[in-house]
Parts: sequence; structure tokens; C-alpha cells
Amino acid sequence: MLKEPESMDECVYFTRRIIGDGRISAWVFKEKCDKCNEGLMSKPKNPKTGKIKVRATEYVCSSCDNIEEKKEYEEKLTCNIKYKCPFCGFEGETQIPFKRKKVSKINEETGKRKSVEVLRFQCKKCNKDIDITKKMK
Ligand SMILES: [Zn+2]
Ligand SMILES: [Zn+2]
Repeated sequence: MLKEPESMDECVYFTRRIIGDGRISAWVFKEKCDKCNEGLMSKPKNPKTGKIKVRATEYVCSSCDNIEEKKEYEEKLTCNIKYKCPFCGFEGETQIPFKRKKVSKINEETGKRKSVEVLRFQCKKCNKDIDITKKMK
């Protein structure tokens, strides 16, 4: 059984999606700093508002001065996934590296192809690719 987060503060990433008849929850825990092994690496806060800078391109340690580039840090993390497969209905769990892939998809509204970033994993039963598409803002 995968460990589930108790609060969003523990996560770098958390999402729930419905895909056809399937559903997915995916989350990535914050990890301890490589340097001091004490602090948790998180996105920096705005010193004025105390809010996390969602679009920051780096992670900072909560107890030392360690800074890591966002992409480099995220690719070392593990994404935990609980899913019901939209293709075969299998319910399972899996873990993949928290690494997004660029794939080309057809936009159902416009019929045009465009490149999107996804977290891709395979169903343990039918082996089909299941994509968690990055949400566009
Ligand atoms: Zn540290
Ligand atoms: Zn399946």
C-alpha cells in the first residue's frame, strides 16, 4: 500500500483526475534536503505575503541555504499513483519517476495537434499507457 499524504503541505504535487471510466490520484512527497538531511525542499515563499510562489523555478531548503533547480530536483522525486484503469477497469497502484514527457495530442475541440506535457505510466494489467496531462492555466 502506498503511503498517502495527510496534508497538502507534505506534497510537491497532488492531483485527482477522472479519465473516462477511470480515475487517478497522484502525489509526490517533498523530500529532505541532500545537504543537511533535515529541512524539506519546498518552493520559496513570498516574504511579504507568506504565500508559496507557485511558479518559482527553484526549490529551497527550510533549514539550510541549499537551492535546487526545479526540474533537476523534481526528476529525482517519486510520483505515487493510485488508479482505476480507463481501458480495462483494473484498480492498482504504481510508482514512477516524477518526470514529465512531451507528447503530441489531438485537441478534441479544435482537432489540431499540440504538444502537451504528461506524466505517463502503464496499467499493470493491460499495459496501456495512461497519461496525466499537465493542467493548462
Ligand atoms: Zn538543507
Ligand atoms: Zn488496464
